[in-house]
Amino acid sequence: MKTQKPRIGHGYDLHRLEKQHPEGPGRPFILAGVTLEHVKGPVSHSDGDAVYHAVTDALLGALGEEDIGQLFPDDAPEWDGEDSAIFLKEAGRRVAEAGFDIGNLDVTIICQKPKIGPHKGAMRQNLAEILATSPEDVNVKAKTHEEVDAVGEGRAVEVHAVVLLFPKG
Ligand code: MG
Repeated sequence: MKTQKPRIGHGYDLHRLEKQHPEGPGRPFILAGVTLEHVKGPVSHSDGDAVYHAVTDALLGALGEEDIGQLFPDDAPEWDGEDSAIFLKEAGRRVAEAGFDIGNLDVTIICQKPKIGPHKGAMRQNLAEILATSPEDVNVKAKTHEEVDAVGEGRAVEVHAVVLLFPKG
């Protein structure tokens, strides 16, 4: 992409949460690379890390590229149970290849249970490490859904992400 303008990208993801079981459907509950203690976990083809998925889509969106589902199809056997960090790394690689740096990244996790607050620092660190950027440029916020609808009833987790890219100086 040949542009000297900054680019903004938005990403969103939702995963259904089911009781964790070795044979499924609920996988271990991982968000931004942090494994959370909970009876339920995401139903997903990959490891179901909704933060990494939303941030991957935000980065791809900023670049004007295809979304995560097109790049890493969920019927492809090689992504079964895959660590979603590889999707995020690939998006980060594409950002650098296109000649951009990450200005900042802002993530909102909407999850009724368990509490996300104690894990926000580790999540920021993981995101910053994978994207080779400073934790100061990564923010992770968390809120509940006030017991309303599927997310509030603990039947799903939802994530929004916004990223700003700058052309490398
Ligand atoms: Mg997903």
